[in-house]
Amino acid sequence: MAILEILKYPEPILSRESLPLKNITGETAQLVNDLMETMYAAPGVGLAAPQVGVAQRVIVLDVDHENPHKQVYKLINPIITRTEGEVIWEEGCLSVVDFTAEVRRAAKVEVVAFDEHEKEIKVAAEGLFAVALQHEIDHLDGKLFIDRISRLKRNLYTRRRKKMLRDGTIPSNESPGVMI
Ligand SMILES: [Zn+2]
Repeated sequence: MAILEILKYPEPILSRESLPLKNITGETAQLVNDLMETMYAAPGVGLAAPQVGVAQRVIVLDVDHENPHKQVYKLINPIITRTEGEVIWEEGCLSVVDFTAEVRRAAKVEVVAFDEHEKEIKVAAEGLFAVALQHEIDHLDGKLFIDRISRLKRNLYTRRRKKMLRDGTIPSNESPGVMI
């Protein structure tokens, strides 16, 4: 197991669509374990493979802060099969430093995926879990939560981020909330 570097916006791979896996191999299991370790170390409640530079449709989640490692989801080639309702959630992202924003999402989702043993998994989610699933699957489509806010707010952030990179400003380590 290894803690991997989490890539930050505007790293180009974060905007690219990832490919579904054709075979689940030992390498996939290794990737899943590394994603888990990196997510817990961050700390975050979810992480997608492209965030560590791997353009494959693999995500991991653990949204239960009280009981970490108890309800862990390792999802390969996840597909949203059903959505219901609407919710607005204040989101942050491990790949988008120093910024959170309200994002409109489906309130409930159902997702079908494979685990690392090629077993099909069906997940029904609501609340933070539903939001995190949609956020992580967005990563696989090359979408960040800042792509789902108004152009005005996004431009404000991208200008600030470019200035930070230009000035060499170190992002504050204070987590503004739950990092997905
Ligand atoms: Zn994210």
